Amino acid sequence: MPELPEVETIRRGIEREFLGLALCEIQIYERLHLLQNCSAIALQRQLIGQVLRAVGRRGKYLIFDFGPHSLLLHLRMSGRLLLQPMEHTRLILTFSTQKKLYFDDARRFGTLHLFRSKDLAQLQPIKELGLEPLSLSDSAKAFRQQLRTKQEIKRLLLDQRKIAGLGNIYANEALFRAGIHPQRAARSLTASERRRLFEAIPAVLQRALSVGGSSIDSYRTPQGELGRFQNEFSVYGRDGEPCPRCRMPIAHITQGGRSSYYCPHCQPIRPIAGLKKSTGGER
Ligand SMILES: [Zn+2]
Repeated sequence: MPELPEVETIRRGIEREFLGLALCEIQIYERLHLLQNCSAIALQRQLIGQVLRAVGRRGKYLIFDFGPHSLLLHLRMSGRLLLQPMEHTRLILTFSTQKKLYFDDARRFGTLHLFRSKDLAQLQPIKELGLEPLSLSDSAKAFRQQLRTKQEIKRLLLDQRKIAGLGNIYANEALFRAGIHPQRAARSLTASERRRLFEAIPAVLQRALSVGGSSIDSYRTPQGELGRFQNEFSVYGRDGEPCPRCRMPIAHITQGGRSSYYCPHCQPIRPIAGLKKSTGGER
């Protein structure tokens, strides 16, 4: 599943290719699952002839700003935005230079909303999103408040309503970097642990962004390139392999149905009264 650095890499790639071009044609091959709140006719009527003014991102949502109206796209499990067609094209946007953007989605979980641009903040999927992890440094107080819960820290980091779009790979990597066990209760973190995590989250994401994200499934950049951050994972997917810091084997557990990887030496669990299994909410 593309996570934040992959979605941000895609956003930058699309902006580079299509910004300032007018939309000439929309071909839709998947209405049923893709179009969430509009018809194909409404899409044509509101967007044809409009210039792409910006490509934004909130969490893992991409926002195509066409002036009065915008599109909100979520890639979900297997969605890809490409300059060349692949085998599962669901949507084609053709721009004024005949340049085309293909939305390819093997598993058909991707979603598209059409909305009036001024209503973005009120849009249901957007207003529920938590802090933006790439610009976490603007939200120090809000971050501290989010941690005042007995929820396990790893599960909290995956809760979109608390932190938007971080994703499983980067939650694992950030906890390793901060030296925090994934099952620690969020409110048990010391001030220095909170500070380390606060710095680790954007640092891991920035590093992943700088190498084009992680290609472990079908992810490609719009230009068709692979990300390279999978070659730099410290813990993710490395159970049984040596920790890059201390050489102890990386451990693997499941939390809320998601895999957690950590070094038992560098990320020790401390006995915390009452910490058993927290109730989740992450998606
Ligand atoms: Zn270690």
